[in-house]
Amino acid sequence: MPELPEVAALAHHLREYAVGRRVTRVDVASLTVLKTVDPPPSALQGAMVTGASRYGKFLALHCDRPEAGDRPEAGDRPEAGEELHLVTHLARAGWLRWSDSLSTVPPKPGKGPIALRVHLGGPGFDLTEAGTQKRLAVYVVADPAQVPGIARLGPDALVLSRDELAELLHGRTDRLKTALTDQTLIAGVGNAYSDEVLHAARLSPYATAGRLPDDALDRLHAALQRVLTAAVNRSVGQDAARLKGEKRAGLAVHARTGLPCPVCGDTVREVSFADRSMQYCPACQTGGKPLADRRMSRLLR
Ligand SMILES: [Zn+2]
Repeated sequence: MPELPEVAALAHHLREYAVGRRVTRVDVASLTVLKTVDPPPSALQGAMVTGASRYGKFLALHCDRPEAGDRPEAGDRPEAGEELHLVTHLARAGWLRWSDSLSTVPPKPGKGPIALRVHLGGPGFDLTEAGTQKRLAVYVVADPAQVPGIARLGPDALVLSRDELAELLHGRTDRLKTALTDQTLIAGVGNAYSDEVLHAARLSPYATAGRLPDDALDRLHAALQRVLTAAVNRSVGQDAARLKGEKRAGLAVHARTGLPCPVCGDTVREVSFADRSMQYCPACQTGGKPLADRRMSRLLR
């Protein structure tokens, strides 16, 4: 699932290449991805792209609504001078793929991975989703805060100060892994980067979020900034929007079960937690003790 670093790189690409262009057409190949009906995607036609941003793991393309005369189609005429935003949540298997010369042929509905194609007068991008689990979500809104998932977001992981982090975690009885991936608490961190941040901070994913000593909070805050900033730079550097899907490098523990920890050489282990699995290094994070797989021990009992 694309997280803060990948989505930041996609927003960066759109700021470089899409800003200043007009939306010439929007092809909707999968109606199920559209979570809003009014305004329709066709309202973006003729709109000028003015920016792109990341909100947690959401990506937004900001546009100025077209003046009446710019609209290639008559029909509903929104007030000129208002903003329109194309917002997407890429979910588990979604991606934004940029093309300098986008095919002018509309993608076939229900066939292939393309859910939405946005033409920007020659170049443009596709929102794609691999696999059968269709979770990609697209919203066309006058204000990004109208997207419920954005309205609920906690402060962004990259702008949190150490004291703000301490305040957010204070009193929480859930596990650190759960707290870090709760978007309403801290925005942007998912399953992969929470594994990486916890490893870099030398903290157990099972630690109680509200009971971290001061030095652990220091390490957690430093690791959040360091791991996420490095990952943003890597993702921007590989020009993520021109890749077919997310491509992560430099991971120490996530998705590396059975491989040696790059810090200490111990074997990276995996444990199931809620509906997913996470990876960690026992020597670096849990005093050398493997964590009990709660699902497994329940089955064995
Ligand atoms: Zn280690």
